[in-house]
Amino acid sequence: MSNKKPTPMMQQYFEIKEKYPDCLLFFRLGDFYELFFEDARKAAHTLGLVLTYRGFYDGKEVPMCGVPFHAYENYLVRLIRNGYKVAICEQMEKPEEAKKRGSTAIVKRDVIRIVTSGTLTEDALLNSRQNNFLTVIVASGAEYGFAWADMSTGEFFTQTATDESFNTLLDRIKPAEIIVADNFMTVHPYLFKSRSEKIETLSFSEFDYKTNKSELCTFFNVSDCTFKHLSKAETVACGVLINYLLQTQKGECPCLLKPHKIEDNTYMEIDSTTRRSLELTTTLNPDSKSTSLLDTIDRTVTGFGARALASQLNTPLLDIDSINARLDKIDYFIQNMTTCERIRSILKGIPDIERAVSRLSVGRGGPRDMISIANGLKCIPMLRNQINTGIIPTSLQSDLQLLGDHSELVAEIFSAIVAEKTPTLARDGKFILPKYNAQLDELRSTRSVAQQKAIQLQSVYIQKTKINTLKVMFNSVAGYFVEVPARQAEPLLINKELGFIHRQTLTNNVRFTTAELADFEQKVLNSTEKCIALEIELFEQLRQKLLAQSESIYTTCAALARIDIATALADYASLNHWVRPTLTDTVEYDVKMGRHPVVEDALKMKNKAFIPNNCYIGEEKERLWILTGPNMAGKSTFLRQNALIVVLAQAGCYVPAEYAKIGIVDKLFSRVGASDDLARGHSTFMVEMVEVSTILNKATERSFVILDEVGRGTATYDGLSIAWAVVEHLHDVNKCRGLFATHYHELTALVNRLNRISLHTLRVREWQGDIVFMHEIDSGAIDRSYGIHVAKLAGLPSSVLIRSEQILNQLEEKRQNQEPLFDDLPLFSHLAQTTSIQKESPAISHLKSLDVDALSPREALDVLYRLKTMAEE
Ligand code: ATP
Repeated sequence: MSNKKPTPMMQQYFEIKEKYPDCLLFFRLGDFYELFFEDARKAAHTLGLVLTYRGFYDGKEVPMCGVPFHAYENYLVRLIRNGYKVAICEQMEKPEEAKKRGSTAIVKRDVIRIVTSGTLTEDALLNSRQNNFLTVIVASGAEYGFAWADMSTGEFFTQTATDESFNTLLDRIKPAEIIVADNFMTVHPYLFKSRSEKIETLSFSEFDYKTNKSELCTFFNVSDCTFKHLSKAETVACGVLINYLLQTQKGECPCLLKPHKIEDNTYMEIDSTTRRSLELTTTLNPDSKSTSLLDTIDRTVTGFGARALASQLNTPLLDIDSINARLDKIDYFIQNMTTCERIRSILKGIPDIERAVSRLSVGRGGPRDMISIANGLKCIPMLRNQINTGIIPTSLQSDLQLLGDHSELVAEIFSAIVAEKTPTLARDGKFILPKYNAQLDELRSTRSVAQQKAIQLQSVYIQKTKINTLKVMFNSVAGYFVEVPARQAEPLLINKELGFIHRQTLTNNVRFTTAELADFEQKVLNSTEKCIALEIELFEQLRQKLLAQSESIYTTCAALARIDIATALADYASLNHWVRPTLTDTVEYDVKMGRHPVVEDALKMKNKAFIPNNCYIGEEKERLWILTGPNMAGKSTFLRQNALIVVLAQAGCYVPAEYAKIGIVDKLFSRVGASDDLARGHSTFMVEMVEVSTILNKATERSFVILDEVGRGTATYDGLSIAWAVVEHLHDVNKCRGLFATHYHELTALVNRLNRISLHTLRVREWQGDIVFMHEIDSGAIDRSYGIHVAKLAGLPSSVLIRSEQILNQLEEKRQNQEPLFDDLPLFSHLAQTTSIQKESPAISHLKSLDVDALSPREALDVLYRLKTMAEE
């Protein structure tokens, strides 16, 4: 305990810090946010700041570090990314106000906001092309209620999940922060095992159904029955989420749309592994230069458009009509390319309205946000007018209607706020236009009259003092003053009757004030303060007017986002010759001349062409492909390209092919490539088996499965047997559409037994002992892997290649003669011989180093003896 009384400021710090033990406290002191004690150590370590000390407490120096308040966002973002929560404690009054309570009174301070990774609104802290979802999960029996909202855009969703779909849903949401009750982790620890998101726990008592239900209804000002379609767990999750937002925003009320419940069977099921391996919106290795599907196709020009496209790719649909509604719009813009281009150029000028509204709603926005909203909304009539040719599809008509009419609001904002050099914050005024408010105009004119009068005094004073160089001046620090050159100042200093009161002596000038000037100054100051107060009040009124329309502005943004996506995809599709897919409710899959969008793009950069391929999967025939082919021939590319075409088609995009007819896929599974999950104690093979088992347990007749190299992680016969059994299971039990790439050529024999299997291979040509990859799909199978050829391309030492050829030939010979393959050890005795070629013997090295002409006969004989000894060693 303290043996020394803290200073009043430290006492205030302790009182505030006590309420926020789990946050780093940014304690505002003048121009800095200071951190003390453990907070200071943590922040200094994370931010690379110097730890200093300020005074003593409990007999020890108090550790301290600080960040300048005008540049705190950069520091804040680093702390948040490192998993900290930050409580921002502001000075709630000016020091002069505190002084009125007594000379030792300290400035009032309080926490105005708690910053967490899921509750950000500032552009500097957010990625403009990604959503930032705060997610609450509530357990109820065997079910979980999820609620997730992006405070920076107003989007709010709910869905229920089971143990099985828990992580799939979380992967789809990609939350910035997760909230659960404190007992959740004890009861369901396994659910979060492999997750890296920040998980925040709240007391179980905050998860009460009744309270949260009423919290939810009060927030949206609606009756109970509005949310009766939500499950109990979803309702609680929504209530907790709203409460958390209100608590972190300290009562400021963020704008949220009413929660939208996502029903099961709305989206194609894509589990975590598949999502990762297909690199839909993020790459497997975020640090690498590789690009995701989203990176490749995203040509949207607005922040909200980009976020919506990411979400669209993440959630391919199941409903054919909804998919067609999206495709119709792309179709329209492809047919009307000039319109498409014009719309895209209008959209380019539209700022991120959603995020500006969200900042205004929590009191963090300013006049500039207001102007950017008006600038965005004013484009709508222009945009609408562009769409006037051809037959406008119903889905586009509906978007146009949803754009709404905000002309009154826009006009009011433009009549109120300066459109050029608009200040970010309202606090210093000078942003309300003349003629917007009569009272403000009057105050301003009083101020300018006073200012002019003060300036006019200059000639009066010149007459009075006969000093022609006398000036009446103003600056924001000293206010109004009279300035005369130092050598002429004496009469003013001596003759008090002239009425000049000395204020300051500078090197060359002396400054004075007068009773009249002080009077004008007071008037100007008073009216300036009043002007600022009135401007802030007017801004607040306008803010309330705008927020009253927030829901319809968000609806406008969503419609604009859809138009942005449709025009961007139309632009991309026509440039890259993509085609509209036809969606059916069969289990057929027929793609002609399909391409892999990401690989094709990468090849284009190197001026290389991508070879398109067909893929036909029939209702009865060819349901399961067995694809053989050499290494590097393009098997994985082919598998992925077809999975990506499925995703693109059901996300409502055109696809990279000449023709595509796709029976709706309910679940997509991809098991491509090997990866360890050492953090969970799983080896490569274990991971592979877990993934394969998920597929075999979950794939239905409507699913689409791509499997690459199943069984390769273990011994040949084990692997072959597993692969064999997996193919049989997929064929007989799952009956799903599937592409199975393998090096086990033995599997091709299954075609004789299983009627829905078809064999395909990737063609290669042998040319002068080398192979050329044709990247073309052919029917049938090949019986060679050409692994050694690929190893040669990879630059393996020639001695190893020669030896590999030898072993391969011998093995093939034995197989043909039906002899046992590996029990003949002498096969491997050649290894030593080959190794000796690789590593030069000392005798040879010695021989090579000799200069024979320089040796005397005697020396030559010595060398001969030495070489003989070396050879015998
Ligand atoms: P492995 O069996 O060794 O994993 P693979 O048969 O799966 O090989 P991929 O990894 O798919 O082969 O492809 C190898 C490379 O071949 C790719 O990186 C790509 O550059 C090129 N490639 C694949 N398919 C095509 C294609 N259709 N057209 C042009 N190039 C292609």
